[in-house]
Amino acid sequence: MTLKGKTAIITGSNSGIGLGIARELARAGADVVLNSFTDRPEDHALAQALGAEFGVAARYIRADMSKGADCRALIEAAGGCDILVNNAGIQHVAPLDQFPVDKWDAVIAINLTSAFHTTAAALPGMRARGWGRIINVASAHGLTASPYKAAYVAAKHGIVGLTKTVALETAREPITANAICPGYVLTPLVEAQIPDQMKTHGMGRDEVIEKVMLDRQPSKQFATVEQLGGTAVFLCSPAADQITGTTISVDGGWTAL
Ligand code: NAD
Repeated sequence: MTLKGKTAIITGSNSGIGLGIARELARAGADVVLNSFTDRPEDHALAQALGAEFGVAARYIRADMSKGADCRALIEAAGGCDILVNNAGIQHVAPLDQFPVDKWDAVIAINLTSAFHTTAAALPGMRARGWGRIINVASAHGLTASPYKAAYVAAKHGIVGLTKTVALETAREPITANAICPGYVLTPLVEAQIPDQMKTHGMGRDEVIEKVMLDRQPSKQFATVEQLGGTAVFLCSPAADQITGTTISVDGGWTAL
């Protein structure tokens, strides 16, 4: 399976799942555009190294996914987008009545509204070129809830709804829109939650991982960024041509419970 000649834009891809997906799409032959809100030499070096490793064109374009104009400018600057992976995301944990308004706004903007802007900007080009794949990185929290994650759960349920709507609007075209719903994946976003959880529960690292983080993940294993990348590559393959408007869980059984 080759994605040679296709350009993939992956938002929030200088680390974690986004980078993992970018690597697997590049391995499959796609040219890739990495993105985050920073503009450091190491961001550009990351893209250069990825391009060299897989023999594809790879660029890093700075754009802040909390800003609608930046989201649209990213698609414009890439000069073409065949595969759009809306992955950028942040988390904030607090009880609803104490949830800081600025955190609510940021989570909704980055995790949900950014995908509205990038998708709106990318669709005309996909239609003109006659092929497109929109892959939204949602979460098990796009299908189920947890306490204290109101903004995240709302945004992830929202992006599942957005995915379905985009799929219906493109159903007669060779464009698909799907959401990948990961369970817990050990990335910087999750790693950063471990010390807090250790304090809250008075547990060591391994115990927190098994009893708290993977409590709802029956496999008792984290999903990997390579598995998520492989799922994205599958969604770009001809086998997935009729898969649209749905969710694919990569969650070790979480949503089967
Ligand atoms: P991460 O923190 O490693 O990566 C998040 C990425 O988003 C980073 O590249 C970061 O720079 C980028 N980002 C943050 N704010 C941004 C902004 N304003 N503009 C542009 N980029 C921005 O986290 P991750 O775990 O790899 O998360 C990636 C996605 O996967 C998120 O949407 C997250 O909700 C989702 N997810 C993660 C898990 C998990 O267990 N790690 C589970 C389910 C879903």
